[in-house]
Amino acid sequence: MGARVPTKFKERKAALKSGKQRRAQIVARRKKSNSAVEWIDPDSLTENWPRGAIAANHAGLGLLNSYSYPPFYYVDKPFTCRDCGAEEIWRATQQKWFYEVVKGDLAATAVRCLSCRRKERQRRAKARADSLPGLLAKSAKKTRADAV
Ligand SMILES: [Zn+2]
Repeated sequence: MGARVPTKFKERKAALKSGKQRRAQIVARRKKSNSAVEWIDPDSLTENWPRGAIAANHAGLGLLNSYSYPPFYYVDKPFTCRDCGAEEIWRATQQKWFYEVVKGDLAATAVRCLSCRRKERQRRAKARADSLPGLLAKSAKKTRADAV
C-alpha cells in the first residue's frame, strides 16, 4: 500500500510534464502558422475594387501611422459641403493628388465645395493679415521688454 504513493506521485509528475509539453507544442504550432499564413487584405485585390477605382501609390503617401492606414485605391466620394450644403463629389483623381502629391493628411477628407473652399481660403488670409499688425506690435513690445 505504502509503495503506491510514490508511483502515484510519479504519475502525477509525468502528467504535469506532459501538460507543459503540450502547451509548448501548441505555442510552437501557433508560431509556425502565424509565419506560414500571410493575411491578405481583400482591398488589395483589384478584382474587389469598386468601379472607377484608381490605384494608390503608397510610396507617394505622407506620414503613415496606425490611425490612418493608407488606402489601396481611390474612388469618387460623395460629400455634403460643410458651409453651403451642396452635394459634391471628391474625385478619385483629386484624392490621389491630395494624398500623394500634396502629401495631405491621410485622415483628412474633402469637407467644402470648390467655391466655399476659395471663400474659406480668402477668409483665413484676411484673418491672418488683420492679426499681423497686432502680432508684430506685441512681439516688438516683448523684444523691447526683453532688452531692458
Ligand atoms: Zn459649399
